[in-house]
Amino acid sequence: MPTNPNALESAALTGDEVCAVRETTCCIVGGGPAGVMLGYLLARRGVPVLVLESHKDFDRDFRGDTIQPSTLEVLDQLGLADRMLETIPHGQIRGLKVTTPTGDLTLADISRLQTKYPYIATLPQAQFLEFLVEEARQFPSFGLVMGANVQRLVQEEGAVRGIRYRGQDNGWHEVRAALTVAADGRFSKIRGLAGLEPVKTAPPMDVAWFRLPRRPDDPRDLGSLAIHNGHFAVVLERAEEWQVGYVILKGSFQQLRGGGLERLHRSFAELVPWLADRVELLTDWKQVAVLSVESSRLTRWHEPGLLLIGDAAHVMSPVGGVGINVAIQDAVEAANLLAAPLQEDRLQEQDLAAVQARREWPVRVIQGFQERMQKIIVAQALQSGKPFRLPLLLRVLLRLPILRNIPARMIAFGARRVRVEEPSPR
Ligand SMILES: Cc1cc2nc3c(=O)[nH]c(=O)nc-3n(C[C@H](O)[C@H](O)[C@H](O)COP(=O)(O)OP(=O)(O)OC[C@H]3O[C@@H](n4cnc5c(N)ncnc54)[C@H](O)[C@@H]3O)c2cc1C
Repeated sequence: MPTNPNALESAALTGDEVCAVRETTCCIVGGGPAGVMLGYLLARRGVPVLVLESHKDFDRDFRGDTIQPSTLEVLDQLGLADRMLETIPHGQIRGLKVTTPTGDLTLADISRLQTKYPYIATLPQAQFLEFLVEEARQFPSFGLVMGANVQRLVQEEGAVRGIRYRGQDNGWHEVRAALTVAADGRFSKIRGLAGLEPVKTAPPMDVAWFRLPRRPDDPRDLGSLAIHNGHFAVVLERAEEWQVGYVILKGSFQQLRGGGLERLHRSFAELVPWLADRVELLTDWKQVAVLSVESSRLTRWHEPGLLLIGDAAHVMSPVGGVGINVAIQDAVEAANLLAAPLQEDRLQEQDLAAVQARREWPVRVIQGFQERMQKIIVAQALQSGKPFRLPLLLRVLLRLPILRNIPARMIAFGARRVRVEEPSPR
């Protein structure tokens, strides 16, 4: 382990590319929820860590602003949750309700769960990441480089030894590390460079996202799914606005656009009548962001010297709004299992395999649940032409007191609750 973990040394690269070489113990590619949380947790355990983020800031629209009870519990364990909730304005979703022409139904009542935080907090992801980075900076072994676009892996003797990135100065920089973690999201560059091919499923839908203002007399603590007349929308409460996901069949955004904004206004006003009074504030398609829904997973999350976590290892569909949570759970378990081997300079590939072994089945359970929900949405809400009814099995499940909390638990905690493990005293 280097004595000064993030020390800068000058060195030459191959050919005419000259760069700075930096050494650390763990190099994390990607400053999203998975990368920043792992960086925080490893630095907290004294492991030298360097997070590299290609963007110059954390601002990102419509990439998920939902912080589930599971993540709030982890933050609470770290002594951060209450401070974060006090300092960042946020919305609270205590239940997910389905509104259909045949009646309303509570799909997930988070407020009934046994947890200190019985709600989903909705807060801008950028502010969440900035908060976590500020907290991480108190640990001397934490480092972060913004505007670092990682483009190459450094490989020697069959193992990954680090990466090369182009910095804001447009020069090449090299980082050498005992472990490189790819937390670079759904389009992971590192996954491609390592030659790892994900198994993909083909979610049959895309989502057009937009925002509408909140007014003082609007309903509170709400997440609602509205289904009517072949259309489906998700409405999520944020601190000062409503985030709307208007679900469309895969590849049909151009068709939606071709129909004109007035048609979208009419359809949305019919779906969510209590927001009809402000849908006309959508005056330009620039206010609507279409995002392709994808789902995939790697069969192997590691190579010697390299681990993939979060969306880089398994792209999560936005169904249930759990992607951030799952990415953070990966980070927590990775830190639990890898902090000691990294600190003691005895990391082996089997330690990386242990991270996959602990996280793979909870991820597969959630992806299976998302796939089922996507099929229901498409077959019964968008394509059937008949008034929507939840499938019988789901209706029965939601009425039985011992089973009705299952959807809420899946959304709130995932398939397996995680905790930050503290090192046992020697
Ligand atoms: C439309 C849509 C809506 C969603 N809504 C929700 C929601 O409401 N709630 C929820 O929980 N989840 C939601 N998700 C899923 C969620 O966004 C992801 O599952 C989650 O962000 C994954 O976190 P991550 O840290 O693994 O990756 P990301 O959040 O994707 O972060 C990866 C980071 O790596 C950086 N990066 C990429 N390439 C490089 C490179 N070469 N060099 C350096 N840095 C790089 C990126 O800039 C990015 O900051 C949604 C997803 C989509 C597509």
